[in-house]
Amino acid sequence: MDKRSGKGLSFAKRIYLPRVIGLGIGLFSVMAAMAPLSPPTWAWLLVLFNGLLWPHVAYLWAARSATPYQAEQRNLVLDSLMGGFWTAAMHFNPLPSVTVLSMMTMNNVAAGGKRMVVRGMLAQLGGMLVAILLLGPGLQLNATPLQVYACLPMLTLYPLALGWVCYQLAIKLADHKRRLSTLSLTDSLTGLLNHGAWKDLLLKFQACQQQKGHAVIALIDIDHFKTINDTFGHVVGDCVLRQLGAELRHNLREGDQAGRYGGDEFCVILPDTSEAEACLAMERLRERVASYRNPQLPHLRISLSIGLSAFEADLESPEHWLEQADKALYTAKHAGRDQINFARSDAATLRLAYPD
Ligand code: GH3
Ligand code: MG
Repeated sequence: MDKRSGKGLSFAKRIYLPRVIGLGIGLFSVMAAMAPLSPPTWAWLLVLFNGLLWPHVAYLWAARSATPYQAEQRNLVLDSLMGGFWTAAMHFNPLPSVTVLSMMTMNNVAAGGKRMVVRGMLAQLGGMLVAILLLGPGLQLNATPLQVYACLPMLTLYPLALGWVCYQLAIKLADHKRRLSTLSLTDSLTGLLNHGAWKDLLLKFQACQQQKGHAVIALIDIDHFKTINDTFGHVVGDCVLRQLGAELRHNLREGDQAGRYGGDEFCVILPDTSEAEACLAMERLRERVASYRNPQLPHLRISLSIGLSAFEADLESPEHWLEQADKALYTAKHAGRDQINFARSDAATLRLAYPD
């Protein structure tokens, strides 16, 4: 995966705002705790750099890196290193120290899970050690009211910012999930249901059809499609498939369910439809497709053979229903193509021969 344009860059972007807010307001807690300890000027400059400039430097550093994901992980480790450094620089003043360390750990767990938490803790320990070496050790266990107030923005605003980022991420993930699920049901060439999705639908449809009335399924196959491919090329063949897909999408009723069964074969469930209505609808489709003309390909002709099968309450399974439609399609092909044929189940044939 290209970490620069994909996961890496969006990861750096996602962390940018919480870092700006977190370090910007964390600055107050650290400055309020450090002030009574009279640190050297370079420490003040460093705390200002860390609070105000570092978030932007970190983002640009990661965004311009060839591997933004790794660069951002390094930035998070540096965040923790600095967090550890400031806790020791504040002589472990309890409230600001816990505030800085816990917010940082929250960030690490949200960004990289257990592994990032462990790496962050090690970096915090390293930071503490560096601060003790540079500024000397110390312990300041009492917090002044000013130091307590200075921690409040960090304690309230930072969880809000991080929670917001996590919420946005959850919305994005749900959207991706929805889109992936739609893609997994769709035939990419025609935009209709794919084989598996249509078969699942047929299964559910037959299960709830038992108590209802009429319904018909249709299997539609393009005649001599191989010859169309061979004569005009596969690109034109694909256009023909897309065109038939569009015809089915736009000219069937809202409740009708069309899918691409595979290759040049399409399938439709027509609920609440009598045999006569189904014949009429499919005949209209056959005629529309037969009249299709392309000025750039004047010799291109498309014809359809269509097998229809009506729902019978005593059908054993959806496969059996499909089989009936397939037989009807086979008969239409053998009777000369470019026509529709209705399947007659044995029971229906008997009913026609000996009506009640
Ligand atoms: P028949 O009238 O008996 O149906 O003859 P036919 O030539 O249409 O035969 P058949 O249905 O077996 O041919 C299907 C052809 O469809 C074979 C395969 O190369 C072609 N095909 C399958 N999927 C695609 C596709 O996605 N695009 C294109 N262009 N061709 C496809
Ligand atoms: Mg065919």
